[in-house]
Amino acid sequence: MINADRLKQTFFELVKYDTGSDPEATSTPSTSKQLVLAKVLVEKLKTLGLLNVSLNEYGIVSGTLPANTKNKIKIGFIAHMDTSPDVATGPVKPQSHDYKRGDITLKNNVIITAEDLKKYKNHTILTSDGTTLLGADDKAGVAEILEMLQILKDNPSIKHPELKIAFTPDEEVGRGTENFDIKAFGADIAYTVDGSAPTDIDTETFNAFNPQITITGIPVHTGYAYHKMVSAIEIANQLMNELPVDETPAQTKDKEGYFHVLTISGSPEKVKMDMLVRDFNYSKAQKRIAFLHSICEDLERRYPKAEIEIKDNEKYHNMNEKFAAFPEMIELTKQAVKMTGLKPKETFVRGGTDGAELTLRGLLTPNLGAGGENFHALNEFVSLEVMTQCTQNLLNIIQVWNEQALQLTAKIKNISPCR
Ligand SMILES: [Zn+2]
Repeated sequence: MINADRLKQTFFELVKYDTGSDPEATSTPSTSKQLVLAKVLVEKLKTLGLLNVSLNEYGIVSGTLPANTKNKIKIGFIAHMDTSPDVATGPVKPQSHDYKRGDITLKNNVIITAEDLKKYKNHTILTSDGTTLLGADDKAGVAEILEMLQILKDNPSIKHPELKIAFTPDEEVGRGTENFDIKAFGADIAYTVDGSAPTDIDTETFNAFNPQITITGIPVHTGYAYHKMVSAIEIANQLMNELPVDETPAQTKDKEGYFHVLTISGSPEKVKMDMLVRDFNYSKAQKRIAFLHSICEDLERRYPKAEIEIKDNEKYHNMNEKFAAFPEMIELTKQAVKMTGLKPKETFVRGGTDGAELTLRGLLTPNLGAGGENFHALNEFVSLEVMTQCTQNLLNIIQVWNEQALQLTAKIKNISPCR
């Protein structure tokens, strides 16, 4: 039922819009070019028969596909429109390769290695021309949701509950959900379609804090500094020396947590440090924060004339604690992936997902694979066959919930943020 050719055409159409987001911008969305695609998506959703289609002041596109069954559950599907500004974002010139073997070499000697491609023999591999990223992250997700809606439109005999669709800006700059109104969206449960492999269901993320430390010293002319100057830079250096050298992003993997100094700027008078503190275990994450506080307190004792201020800035929680309240959500999602003929895998992400923030705010939102590989790089690619599987997952998810949600009505009422 999935039309791979149409899926590819939709994907190519989407990636041609340069929707790079901007981490420096304070506007919402961070770049106005995202709105160009947003308006195109509004028209597409209307054509696909969705109701209440809107583009709101924050650049979020949303719409509702009414149910054609009695089933009362409302399922959300979310993908982000923006692409990573880590490398050139456009204009994207997408290419299609009938892959047999070896490397794929793009312009400027950008290479997708045979190692990267070993799972993809005889697949249709979609890439950029090598001068920009492709933007499969996350336009593969957007295209798959659109293909799913097209199939539901063309086949009214497929029964489905009410579907809530949203396309969001600025995920890549960490602002994907800051203006996302869960109540207005109106879904009981949701999925972000923003992962990699079609087998993967991301149910775990770090517990994340972004501490901000401000050190205020006493600046004095260096010629007269003896026993007078208190250098904030020196204190910052001492602080960094106290951090465990084997607990950094470069020295940890799997479910190991870390400390990371992200930016440091300033002068002897004032230094600002932005840090990342990550741990899959919440109490361990809190212990890491307490450790940072103890370092700062110790430094204040050693430098009594300096001031050290620390803000914890909690960002998101490991989602898996929230799923414990409704394990059926993950079980049914696994069933859907199995129906595609795949072996589902509960996976963890060493980072956040928009779903992690939504889950923390009450909307259970695991992340599904959208197919892409080599994210945020010029050699990003996606297999069309895998995109087809990801789309099949979405259709199966709808079917599974349609068949089983009625028996779970009481539980769904309990966990839903909008009832
Ligand atoms: Zn993404």
